[in-house]
Amino acid sequence: MAKPFEKRIWLATPTMHGDEIRYVQEAYDTNWMSTVGENINQVEKQVAEYAGCKYAVALSCGTASLHLAIKLAGERLYGMPKPFEGTLQGHRVFCSDMTFDATVNPVAYENGEAIFIDTERDTWNMDPVALEKAFALYPDVKLVVLVHLYGTPAKLDEIRAICEANGALLVEDAAESFGATYHGKQTGTFGCCSAISFNGNKIITGSAGGMFLTDSKEDAEKIRKWSTQSREAAAWYQHEEIGYNYRMSNVIAGVVRGQMPYLEEHIARKKAIYERYKEGFKELPVQMNPYIEGEMEPNFWLSCMIIDASAMCRQVRGEQDALYISEPGKTCPTEILEVLAKHNAEGRPIWKPMHMQPIYRMNPFVTAQGNGRAKTNAYIAGSIEDVGMDIFNRGLCLPSDINMTAEEQDCIIEIVKGCFA
Ligand SMILES: *Cc1c(COP(=O)(O)O)cnc(C)c1O
Repeated sequence: MAKPFEKRIWLATPTMHGDEIRYVQEAYDTNWMSTVGENINQVEKQVAEYAGCKYAVALSCGTASLHLAIKLAGERLYGMPKPFEGTLQGHRVFCSDMTFDATVNPVAYENGEAIFIDTERDTWNMDPVALEKAFALYPDVKLVVLVHLYGTPAKLDEIRAICEANGALLVEDAAESFGATYHGKQTGTFGCCSAISFNGNKIITGSAGGMFLTDSKEDAEKIRKWSTQSREAAAWYQHEEIGYNYRMSNVIAGVVRGQMPYLEEHIARKKAIYERYKEGFKELPVQMNPYIEGEMEPNFWLSCMIIDASAMCRQVRGEQDALYISEPGKTCPTEILEVLAKHNAEGRPIWKPMHMQPIYRMNPFVTAQGNGRAKTNAYIAGSIEDVGMDIFNRGLCLPSDINMTAEEQDCIIEIVKGCFA
């Protein structure tokens, strides 16, 4: 075995440039140590301008932004909820299946029921064919929550057309894809509203933070109000609706403000990492996480790979543990992740599909062939296409840290190659 890295190689860590601390210091020096201040004003302007939308509202995190986006869509569709009911009470919502649970949890916060839509192989995002099947099975659904996973845009034209044909609203989870474009337009500007995240591992970071994006002035104002405890315009604390403490801090906004000028540099460096893996793995029986060239430009937030079925050794995953049987010429994500960890490098399994999460096990799941839930057990016997689980079983996220050097990445490539020996 090659020597482990002395300094750990991470999946994705923050990359600071120096301007961030200047804006944080400014917040301190001017005593705007609050959820009000110039950093917030500036960063909202910059993000809206960059994304090409009219309004951006700075919030405490991506999850809060998604919550308010989904709540807003629910209220537009179904009106103000009864006291102590969610806006999605008694309603179903189509959601990306292969994603982080923050995409779909807000549907539950608003008392809706998520119906998971299977994944396609061209971008690893929501399958438009499965979405169409889902509308045939559940014609009453009026809301779709779509993620752009790992920074790769989903098939937005197809998905938007299906939403329009069915009179449904689209909310985009662009938490991982800030800066990625589809037909030259930024992700996060295709739905009725959307969310981005400035979590520590994202393409740029505020250490935390998120943003709500919209073209509607009225919606932006509503989100500002909800995120500051839904205070009415009275001299005292007056409340007509449920509120939240979701506003971004001016200190966090200082970090985001310092990062904004470096977004494109980060994307370029992430793309170089992706291309270097692609080149390094060209002799191996693997593919990189795919995108459709000419149609979309990902932000390459995470580099992932998927092992050809013919090169997979046996691997069994339970709820918490995984086992595999090593075989010459073959490997599996569990083995590669284990070997990377032994070398002090961090990879990660593909985000486990929501329909296989214990908490969502009772929720419907629709594949390109129709009702996937009835067939999920059959899939385990290998008889139906559950694309998300197939990618989960054969795929993994590679160390994609901007701070990783080319030499270090070459070592990672050799380590991965060694797993196929
Ligand atoms: C990170 C992330 C979120 C949540 O963002 P936070 O800022 O961490 O709350 C939501 N969806 C996806 C797909 C994410 O990767």
